[in-house]
Amino acid sequence: MDHHEVLIVGGGNAGISLAAKLLRDGAKDVAIVESESVHRYRPMLNYVGGGEATMEDLERPAAAVMPKDATWIRGRVVSCDPTGPSVTTRDGRTITCTTLVIATGLEEDWGDTPGLEEAYAAGWAGSTFLVQTAPKVWPAVRDLTNGRVVFSMPPEPAPCAATALKPLFMACDHWQRAGVLQNLDIHLALPGPTSIGVPKADSILEDALTAYGVQVLRNARVTSVSERQVTVRTDERDVVLDEIAYAHVIPSYRAPRWVAESDLAGTSEAGLVDVDPLTLRHRRHDGVWSLGDVADLGIKPSGGALRKQVAVLSPNILASGGGELQHYDGYTVMPITVARHQLMLVEIDREGRPAPSVPVLDPVRPRRLTWAIDRYALPVVYFRRILRGRV
Ligand SMILES: Cc1cc2nc3c(=O)[nH]c(=O)nc-3n(C[C@H](O)[C@H](O)[C@H](O)COP(=O)(O)OP(=O)(O)OC[C@H]3O[C@@H](n4cnc5c(N)ncnc54)[C@H](O)[C@@H]3O)c2cc1C
Repeated sequence: MDHHEVLIVGGGNAGISLAAKLLRDGAKDVAIVESESVHRYRPMLNYVGGGEATMEDLERPAAAVMPKDATWIRGRVVSCDPTGPSVTTRDGRTITCTTLVIATGLEEDWGDTPGLEEAYAAGWAGSTFLVQTAPKVWPAVRDLTNGRVVFSMPPEPAPCAATALKPLFMACDHWQRAGVLQNLDIHLALPGPTSIGVPKADSILEDALTAYGVQVLRNARVTSVSERQVTVRTDERDVVLDEIAYAHVIPSYRAPRWVAESDLAGTSEAGLVDVDPLTLRHRRHDGVWSLGDVADLGIKPSGGALRKQVAVLSPNILASGGGELQHYDGYTVMPITVARHQLMLVEIDREGRPAPSVPVLDPVRPRRLTWAIDRYALPVVYFRRILRGRV
């Protein structure tokens, strides 16, 4: 039977950057279970959907991002015994470990939006949140000159849900420049009462939505999708939007089923891993930790949040024999383009208070500079520093 000191399930943003940091901090035996042969910088998917980037810009071979001193176990975990701890892969391999880290991210909950997969396949709907449909979004919205379009933001938990506004605003800016904006009937389904729940940012976003003539459905959830039709449930009523030219509808998300159905999960409806949101240690199983989108941390998940989580989790794992554990402050980030080349950066702590990384500039004010950093500088920092445990 295989055994490793630290076993990380998932080689995404969380798993790779944690493994790299642990090795830098002195860990000797770190293994990552990951089945995918391609690693993606997912924030760039929205720029693909806005016609500002290609899939090649965000994809790298997984082998190129694996830390060289980590063991890569190519497989898909299908079950876990958190008491061991141990995991079993789809091909029947059981791996035991001293420390287990769950970093699987979330998966689409297709059952929550019946008809959505079929609409993607038919081509009149798509989403930047899915690798398969992201490259088809821009050609579809770019060529629209009239008709009804629907955008949605997924309910929490979701991978940086607020960035669902990026393709909307990039499309609106394009339609405005093309002189067709007034011919389009644009709808947005928001899961909450305001755009993102941060007052200063909300006021800028609401102004932008009004300026582009977007009709907003609040406290709204897409409940079903059928032949060119999207049904949205709000507090008061079901709204049926039909004769749709294009729908950018994003599915709901949840933890992988094997996580949700094991004793890793707590009481969250999405089956997230039940960790102490400060130390990232499992509440019942001392040898188990979690970070990233799948961990129940009481925040809106984001890749930016991982920067702080990794900085806390690596020393905590190495100190787990008895040293003092560090605390994660709940930092997360929501970068949103309000025009093609203007971006606001909303950084908050667990209580929703502003937590700017660079306190001298007001990052919430949309700027071209912030957009250029998000589009061009951050991907370089991601591949060269974050995935190498250097941030
Ligand atoms: C369209 C989009 C735009 C975004 N924009 C931003 C942004 O602008 N800024 C920002 O900060 N964040 C953004 N995010 C969020 C960010 O990408 C995620 O928060 C981040 O990727 C989470 O990392 P993770 O490692 O927890 O999960 P993931 O990135 O989902 O990685 C999980 C990994 O685990 C693997 N895995 C899953 N299950 C198993 C299993 N059973 N066995 C083995 N391996 C498994 C998967 O193959 C995957 O490689 C965006 C996300 C999307 C989708």
